[in-house]
Amino acid sequence: RFNPMLMHDPFNFQAKSRGSSPFASCEGVSITYAEAHERTERLASIISEQGVRKGDRFCLLMRNSIDYILLIYAGSRIGAVPVTLNYRLAPPEWADTIADSESGLIVSDIEFCEAVDAGLSQLENAPAISRVSIGSGACNWHSLEDALNNTRSACRPVALHPDDAALQMYTSGTTGKPKGVVLSHRAFVSNITQSLFSMPYRLNPGERTLVVLPLFHIAAIATSFSAVSSGAMLVVHREVNPVAIANSLVHDEIVVASLVPAVIQLLLTGVPELEAMEFPKLAFVGYGASPIAEPVLRRAMEVFKCHFAQGYGMTELAGSCALLTEEDHRRALADDPGLLLSAGKALPGVQLRIVGSDEVDLPPGEVGEVLVRGPQLMSGYWRMSEETAETLRHGWLHTGDAGYLDAEGYLYIYDRIKDMIVSGAENIYPSEIESVLHRHPGIADASVIGVPDERWGETVMAIVVTKPGAALSEDELDRFCRKRLGAFKVPRKYTFVQSLPRNPAGKIVKKELRKKYWADQPRQVR
Ligand code: ATP
Ligand code: MG
Repeated sequence: RFNPMLMHDPFNFQAKSRGSSPFASCEGVSITYAEAHERTERLASIISEQGVRKGDRFCLLMRNSIDYILLIYAGSRIGAVPVTLNYRLAPPEWADTIADSESGLIVSDIEFCEAVDAGLSQLENAPAISRVSIGSGACNWHSLEDALNNTRSACRPVALHPDDAALQMYTSGTTGKPKGVVLSHRAFVSNITQSLFSMPYRLNPGERTLVVLPLFHIAAIATSFSAVSSGAMLVVHREVNPVAIANSLVHDEIVVASLVPAVIQLLLTGVPELEAMEFPKLAFVGYGASPIAEPVLRRAMEVFKCHFAQGYGMTELAGSCALLTEEDHRRALADDPGLLLSAGKALPGVQLRIVGSDEVDLPPGEVGEVLVRGPQLMSGYWRMSEETAETLRHGWLHTGDAGYLDAEGYLYIYDRIKDMIVSGAENIYPSEIESVLHRHPGIADASVIGVPDERWGETVMAIVVTKPGAALSEDELDRFCRKRLGAFKVPRKYTFVQSLPRNPAGKIVKKELRKKYWADQPRQVR
């Protein structure tokens, strides 16, 4: 039965109505919707044969692949909840999450199996868990291919409600330990519908979309599943390789690409022949998940010559809540450059508020915490009732992001509230200073943090990566910033580094940068 409030329904629908259309390709292998659907049925049987039932969790520890997506649909098919693990974390962190999720099954790429075994064996109360590997050779692990060959039975349908859990994903861990976010079918499907209504370009059946962001991150899942609901084809990359991405955009005739600023930056700097390349099929680039430096965006728009839109969102929102549309981008380039700094307007069905520390609404232009209400809100954090109660209050998601709304309803994200610098009585938002630094021609990358200061509590430090061959002095940067920023925001200190620490979502991990300076004293956060 077709129930458009369940995560796997658009996929089932496409498989029935366009079975012979291509569903996905990865490393030269491709598969049609009908084949993908049949494989999903068998994957669902395997998951259930391992004793995983409706509401139970099972872990995925995999690089991007077609099976990654099919395993999610397979879980959804039987009401089991996939827990997507970040393979870039350390094995003890995997083991903690596996145990914490109370999963009965883990499916892992062969390359991670040994480390999973080692990590689990070090736990005090190591859980009994079935282990299925993609690829064979690890002892104690069943190979997925063998299991698929031996499974013929279709599994029994399970009745599901839109409020049942569909997926458990982890936040990127930019501000603290990653939190397990429980997303319902309703949350998931709502955000896909909202995006389809607001995107400048809707994929047609058979058109191709690039899946290159890691599938353990919400951005990759939301954009892939949205493409499936249009019957499009997913071109899956196992990892981020700028030259491979650029070639794929051309040769795979990609129409829609979902990227993050760090990957866009990589493409611009890591592909020498990019300038000479043409992307005639590329119609739309979506980006988001972290702030983008204006020169990077302008350059990307020149190179790719297609529509651009920016999403603002988070794991807790099953994707996004605001969009800076293609029209906004055009308006910004024509006569309103300030608009490029905005994260756009609320998606249909979303309400946004900005509140001060006393939870009172602030007028347009004033910076406070961004609150979101809409059908895509998470159900809560897994096994973190205090954090859930703090984050979801009276139906509003407290994002932890500082920002403001202008009179027209455009949202401007400043920073994480935790990253705000309080110097004397002034609140300073690092992003404002960072965007000035990014405009300096000798700067390749920059981040601004608060460091301890006896007189002011905190003071502004800029951590700068210079472009190859550029010689930058503190005096030069000081003059540059003084011309463009109020005196209290001008960095008092500079540090020059080779590169900035980023997490897999490409976000600069400021707590890493701060660590050195705050080693022997606690930092006050609002
Ligand atoms: P953690 O919650 O574990 O600290 P995280 O917040 O980085 O990690 P995600 O859910 O992946 O985990 O990211 C959501 C955050 O990303 C938002 O709260 C916001 O700070 C940032 N973000 C998302 N989109 C944008 C955007 N378009 N512009 C600026 N920042 C963005
Ligand atoms: Mg967060």
